[in-house]
Amino acid sequence: MKIIVAGGDGFCGWPTALYLSKQGHDVAILDNLVRRKIDNELHSNSVTPIATLEERVNKWKELTGKEIKTFVGDLNHHDFLTQVFTQFKPDAFVHFAEQRSAPYSMIDREHAVYTQTNNVMGNLNVLYAIKELAPDCHLIKLGTMGEYGTPNIDIEEGYIEIEHKGRKDTLPYPKQPGSFYHLSKVHDSHNIQFACKIWGIRATDLNQGIVYGLHTEETKQDPVLNNRLDYDGVYGTALNRFINQAAIEHDLTVYGSGKQTRAFLNIEDTVRCVEIAAENPAEPGEFRVFNQFTEWFSVKELADKVQKVAKEEGIDVSIDNMENPRVEAEDHYYSAVNTKLRDLGLEPHLLTDEVIKDMLQTVIDHKDRVIKDNVLPSVTWK
Ligand code: NAD
Repeated sequence: MKIIVAGGDGFCGWPTALYLSKQGHDVAILDNLVRRKIDNELHSNSVTPIATLEERVNKWKELTGKEIKTFVGDLNHHDFLTQVFTQFKPDAFVHFAEQRSAPYSMIDREHAVYTQTNNVMGNLNVLYAIKELAPDCHLIKLGTMGEYGTPNIDIEEGYIEIEHKGRKDTLPYPKQPGSFYHLSKVHDSHNIQFACKIWGIRATDLNQGIVYGLHTEETKQDPVLNNRLDYDGVYGTALNRFINQAAIEHDLTVYGSGKQTRAFLNIEDTVRCVEIAAENPAEPGEFRVFNQFTEWFSVKELADKVQKVAKEEGIDVSIDNMENPRVEAEDHYYSAVNTKLRDLGLEPHLLTDEVIKDMLQTVIDHKDRVIKDNVLPSVTWK
């Protein structure tokens, strides 16, 4: 299959591009490299040193003989996107290329507007490119479990059957997102569903949980293939952040009570889920939704796990319940369905002590790169 991985220079996109290439697909990466520029804006970095995109794909070719084409440009530049679609003629378009940090979207008006413009308009451009240039191309779009929020009932996979005043219908599951970033994903989902309906586009919305981990079989092959690892208060996701804090012997900073519960998955499962979606495409006109996660944990449970593994490695860190910078429910019900990807063959890599230990060791190896000022949250919702 000819597959474009948009956002293929990022944390999820890079290992996905390598994995799909290894599986024999003809892969091209599209990325405007904005994530690297945001590191400069935030005076932050990846804990792991990351090579340039050019060095990365050249190393992959040297090691495997497989070529990954690169298109450096922005989804919001229509002429660029037209050129990519015309030249590459994709069978599938994997769309990771969005601003993905909730705190970044909550910094101020400018960052909220950037996030929603970049994400919603970028996705709309992709929908038009598919309609006009590759109508059979399967859109595999990264959404988030955060679109649903934390309702007091079970979260279904995209749709819910409702009985109201004696009549029944299957409707999109209600969305109650918790940041302007998460709202951008909800807007994307609506636009995609509408495009499927009116133009007959085929699309899969992957409502992904929070991704932890770093390495995959492919990125481990050479340091030039390293994946990025974010740890700062803006881009670091919960578990990755705690592991980094442990490595530099900083308290593990849990927001509020830490009872907030979220869905998680290992980066090794992200790459496999995308492959499963690509190999089992949605039907023309179908807007399919998969909940892409394998387990859920409260933030406190994650901190406890990291504290325990760190202690076994001779590192003593305390857990510090700090004032929650976000506006979110701390005591809430959480139960979500995730059977569709499992039914199509996903075999989860679960969060074991071994996984935490392996990540901790990687961060310890690079801990001189951690900028300590960035470890605490710097953005509040209010
Ligand atoms: P990331 O920031 O590491 O990667 C995103 C990539 O997209 C970057 O390389 C960036 O340069 C590129 N990009 C952004 N806007 C672009 C544009 N307009 N044109 C071209 N390229 C652009 O993020 P990630 O963690 O790899 O996340 C990838 C996707 O998965 C995002 O859509 C995110 O919302 C979703 N997701 C991520 C997580 C997670 O825990 N990381 C969880 C759920 C969903």
